[in-house]
Formats: sequence, C-alpha cells, structure tokens
Amino acid sequence: MDRKGTLIVISGFSGAGKGTVVKRLVEEYGYSLSISATTREPREGEQDGREYYFKSVNDFRNMIDYNGFIEWAQYVDNFYGTPRKFVEDEMEKGHDVILEIEVQGAMNIKSQYKDAILIFVTTKDIPTLMERLNGRGTESSDVIAKRLKRASEEAEDINEYEYIVVNDDLEECVHTVHSIILSKKCMRENNSQFIEKIKKDLSEI
Ligand code: 5GP
Repeated sequence: MDRKGTLIVISGFSGAGKGTVVKRLVEEYGYSLSISATTREPREGEQDGREYYFKSVNDFRNMIDYNGFIEWAQYVDNFYGTPRKFVEDEMEKGHDVILEIEVQGAMNIKSQYKDAILIFVTTKDIPTLMERLNGRGTESSDVIAKRLKRASEEAEDINEYEYIVVNDDLEECVHTVHSIILSKKCMRENNSQFIEKIKKDLSEI
C-alpha cells in the first residue's frame, strides 16, 4: 500500500512480559526487531548484539553525539537508545519494525513518526506484576523497588498510547497485538496514496 515500513512501539511495565510478546511477534509474523544499545550490565544469558548492544557510557554518549539514535532515554540508572541505521534501512525496505522501549522513548517516537503505532502491554493487575518481578529472580530487591516506582510514573503516561493490551494469556496477547497492527495499517487515512492511485488508474481506462 502507501508506505514504507511502519514503526511499532511496544511499551509496558517492567515484568509485564513484553519481551516475550515481542519475541513471538517476530517469530510468528516476521516483524523486524530493533536491537537497542544500553549501558546496563548484561543479565545472565544475555548476549551482545542479541538482546542489546552493551556499551560503555562513553560509547553511548558518542553515539548520541553523531546522531546515531532515533531516540534515547535514561531508565532507572542506565541509558537505552534505538540505533538509527537499522530502523531507517528496514523501513526503507518496507519492513515493519518493532521497538520495545519505555515511555519517554515512545513519546519521542510519537512526535517524530506520526504514523507509528503505540501499544502498551500490561499485566491484568498490579499484584500479578509484583509476583512476576519477584519471581523473575534476575534483579535485586532494590532494583525491583526502583522499577515499581518507575511503573507508577509510567502509569501517568498510559493515556499517550493508542492501545492497551493485557498480557494474561500469551497467545491471545500476541494475536491481539498483531491484529491491532493489521487493522491500523488498513485504516483509510493510512492509505491515501493507494486510494489516489486506484482513482487515477480508473480515470485512465
Ligand atoms: P531492561 O533493563 O529490563 O532490559 O529494560 C528496561 C526498560 O528499557 C524497558 O522498559 C525497555 O523497554 C526499555 N528500553 C529498552 N531499549 C530501549 C531503547 O532503545 N530506548 C528506550 N527509550 N527504552 C528502551
């Protein structure tokens, strides 16, 4: 149809399971996934270039300086950013690109890319979120407390998202997110060039 690829922003509280949702969207539906750069330490099992590009603060700052990110933000005690080149190249090829990023980054994307699709993934309630964060066992209680505090700040920004999806059943959540993306891409206002072309072709018959 009209466009080159679309940007799909997926945010959600830490512990809402958005990473798993995103992984499934990539595997099942072939979305491109942007790999972010971060200054945080790798967790056990994470690999450089797979989950993140792990950078020193200096390298991260250099990337900011040469405009290497389409957005970046500080989250808890670390920096996270979306490398520009991959996203622009993929969109140019017509691929839809998923960004799994936090709220400040999402707002930044929203202001730059008007047709980006913003989706917020959440657990069905806060006790479930706390259970998941505690059960993950990857973070100290201090980090969990910071993430919960951050979640309450993020809750203030939920209104900025177009779609809210509850991740209670993984399959259902993945299917719902994919359906949202398909439906948004079919909206008439997102297909004006396509419609103009049909009209033009018909007028030339
Ligand atoms: P984590 O440390 O749990 O991997 O990620 C912490 C938060 O940073 C998550 O909410 C994640 O979505 C977000 N995040 C990951 N990559 C980026 C990025 O490139 N930009 C922004 N703004 N946030 C990111």
